[in-house]
Amino acid sequence: MEGKRSIMSDFSKIEEKVLAGKRLNREDGLKLIASSDLLSLGSLADIVRKRKVGDKSYFNSNLNINYTNICIFRCPLCAFSKDLEEGYLFSLEEIEEKVYQGLRLEIKEFHIVGGLHPHLSFEYFKEMLKRIKKIDAEIFIQAFTAVEIDHFSKNSGLSIEEVLKKLKEAGLDSIPGGGAEVFSPRVRQIISPKKISGNRWLEVMKKAHFLGIKSNATMLYGHVETKEEQVDHLLALRDLQDKTKGFLAFVPLAFHPKNTSLSSCRGTDGFDDLRIFAVSRILLDNFDHIKGLWMYLGEKLAEVALCFGVDDIGGTGLEEKIVHAAGALTPTEISKKRLVRIIENAKRIPQEVDSLYRERKL
Ligand code: SF4
Repeated sequence: MEGKRSIMSDFSKIEEKVLAGKRLNREDGLKLIASSDLLSLGSLADIVRKRKVGDKSYFNSNLNINYTNICIFRCPLCAFSKDLEEGYLFSLEEIEEKVYQGLRLEIKEFHIVGGLHPHLSFEYFKEMLKRIKKIDAEIFIQAFTAVEIDHFSKNSGLSIEEVLKKLKEAGLDSIPGGGAEVFSPRVRQIISPKKISGNRWLEVMKKAHFLGIKSNATMLYGHVETKEEQVDHLLALRDLQDKTKGFLAFVPLAFHPKNTSLSSCRGTDGFDDLRIFAVSRILLDNFDHIKGLWMYLGEKLAEVALCFGVDDIGGTGLEEKIVHAAGALTPTEISKKRLVRIIENAKRIPQEVDSLYRERKL
């Protein structure tokens, strides 16, 4: 009983700070993330969400282009990548064809990521962006994680800044938040030992933000990380956001263990997912948007997540391959109508946006 009273008083103190608009510290974050009082967490996150963005909830119409699944890293967490002999690689003509397909469906936003191919020259990526913009200059391109950008830099001998500047000139509009995983070196050693360090990921993002390229940030949770490591990850993102204001949204990604070398991990439960959304909304006071991707959560949990701090449920996601390779049972795409219904079921106002949160007509 004594223990319960002290947890409740800890929560009230944190609640008071949040309601007064004060920033939470690491200790507060650890208390929040250890709390099993999911409903209190959710209602506090909902207050913060409403204060930040009001009652609108966002989605976008996008098509994914995963240009290759060939990857030299073969991370234990990954069900998508293949070796050179087994994988695929889209030609630039095939990529153009996918863009035309998207345009026929009135999709003007393309999300492009892929594996770390050993032999692709930097020209392929610049040319890819140029060709897409040539088809229609209004197309929005969100492409290449910090991990891919670091790979381009190493392969081409150009600095990170030079790579980013050239990609921007060629048509890059924003960067997705993938590859962040959990920044803890202990965790990375287990789940993605060859990938760039957490510090390097943050450095690439910092350089991009200072060049005027906005990005998202992610955390892949639900494998071997501790709650402390989750909180430290969030705080590292909050620190960088203070410096650059370049993050558009934080996107927690539930780990799907199927078909990975970490298949013995149990994955996440709805409880874990909702707690991460709520805690990140409360702790990340300088992020406007918390994105809960319906594709990772399923449609029903995506509706509930909108009451736990989330204000964006992601995109139509045509042709998504990565999370489905890891066993996600959700469909690979969804209609705009269905996304609108998810949002309306949660009694929010649906608003279509591009990745910079510029509103589009429904
Ligand atoms: S997670 Fe990314 S870097 Fe790691 S193997 Fe998969 S595609 Fe490659």
